[in-house]
Amino acid sequence: MRRIQVTEQLWDVNDLASFCCEKQNAASNQVFHAVRGYFFLAMYIWCVTYIVVMSNKLESPSDVQRWLQAKAANLWPAALGSLSLRRTRCIRKNCRACQSGEKHPSWVLSGHIQGKRFSLYVPEALVPEVQHCLDNGRALQELLFASAVRYVKALKHAPTSSNP
Ligand SMILES: [Zn+2]
Repeated sequence: MRRIQVTEQLWDVNDLASFCCEKQNAASNQVFHAVRGYFFLAMYIWCVTYIVVMSNKLESPSDVQRWLQAKAANLWPAALGSLSLRRTRCIRKNCRACQSGEKHPSWVLSGHIQGKRFSLYVPEALVPEVQHCLDNGRALQELLFASAVRYVKALKHAPTSSNP
């Protein structure tokens, strides 16, 4: 905090120095050079502080593990799949719903498991619950993508890393 305040004060003095420089007298040039020196010193301190703070923020692989477990704990029930409303014809003759084109709506959950397609009837009463489950599944998927980036970064900075 103290360093930031010093930088702000130096900015004010720097503005003043620029103003004085416009008058182009020897005294103001001296002030300008002194202020410029302090300005670069302040920038150097700020950069060092930034690097120290950022290096402390780097995660370890176990930090990423704890983060993922904490986030994923709130995402149950979770599933991947596609919930859709289908309209199918029935086998009854002279069915009004089928003749009108309305047909018979039903909710179906579909997806793939190891390359094989599955399709499952979902009673209408369960649709909100299944939809919530699928929303969690997508959130979990996003979480795993984020985990990929964080984990690889953590591995790169881990002290035991075999990177050259
Ligand atoms: Zn029908």
